[in-house]
Amino acid sequence: LSALGSENHVAIYDPATDPHRPEHLSLMSDLREALDQNALQLFYQPKLDLAVGRISGAEALIRWRHPKRGFVPPDAFITLAEETGNIQRLTRWVLEAGIGQVAAWRKMGLALRLSINLSVRDLADESLPERIGALMAAYDVPADYLVLEVTESAIMGKPDAAIAVLRRLANQGIALSVDDFGVGQSSLNYLRRLPVSELKIDKSFVLKLAETPDDRTIVQSVVELGHRLGYSVTAEGIEDEASLALLSNYGCDYGQGYHIGKPMPAEVFNRFLSDARWRGKRLQEAS
Ligand code: C2E
Ligand code: MG
Ligand code: MG
Ligand code: MG
Repeated sequence: LSALGSENHVAIYDPATDPHRPEHLSLMSDLREALDQNALQLFYQPKLDLAVGRISGAEALIRWRHPKRGFVPPDAFITLAEETGNIQRLTRWVLEAGIGQVAAWRKMGLALRLSINLSVRDLADESLPERIGALMAAYDVPADYLVLEVTESAIMGKPDAAIAVLRRLANQGIALSVDDFGVGQSSLNYLRRLPVSELKIDKSFVLKLAETPDDRTIVQSVVELGHRLGYSVTAEGIEDEASLALLSNYGCDYGQGYHIGKPMPAEVFNRFLSDARWRGKRLQEAS
């Protein structure tokens, strides 16, 4: 249990997550180098509009191919970057690469909304709304092409400051999605205070949806809750056709998962879009 930097928790020392451990320090300096040398890459996971059966967007997921350690999963280095104060730089890189990709899609005639994950420390950065606004202006990308995903735990640390930043982003027309919905603490309390557009149901409720009656009840209820609050609902972790069919029946708006498509580099994603099954939405069709 690592609670470094979070004010309302007792910090329990756990050597496994101590950012000052030698191997973590060297991983961190490697990450700084990777940022300098552009060795990070964004992968894009398709997001399917379940009502019309078309890909309407993607989630940007960071990938780092470490020269010696091989593939370092984001869960490992994102946490380290947060704890060592490097996350804002990483997020800036992700935002610029992602918004640049949206602009590239628009030039290809594709209207795809991009979801980008934010971390807890990002929400403490008061300049974030201006930075994002400036990037979108520079790349000529309208605000409604961007969705920012935050987890409830990202808001819990300093809720007032985080909520102020999120409200300013929402006022700029950027959609806010509550990621991993259902596994955080105090979900419903924060929902009331946040300018939310979307609930993203955590994959733990979706992975075995077809075989698990309790999961079906929870997912169906979250879809209803989200809709009654005026939000759209996305399910992540769709791994089979039966779960996809159930989610469509429940009226869930969007789906993501290996059954639809894994996260992939932009070139692969672009080829995937021309797949006869799930074509990308053309710009002319965008409302
Ligand atoms: P997340 O935002 O909840 O992303 C969903 C994760 O579920 C991704 O893992 C994705 O590859 C995986 N996933 C998608 N569909 C399926 C499926 O059908 N089955 C299974 N088993 N998994 C599926 P990934 O890419 O390893 O990312 C893990 C987490 O790292 C993300 O969770 C997010 O919290 C964080 N992350 C990734 N990229 C970024 C980033 O650019 N910035 C920040 N701050 N965090 C990021
Ligand atoms: Mg996410
Ligand atoms: Mg998630
Ligand atoms: Mg997650």
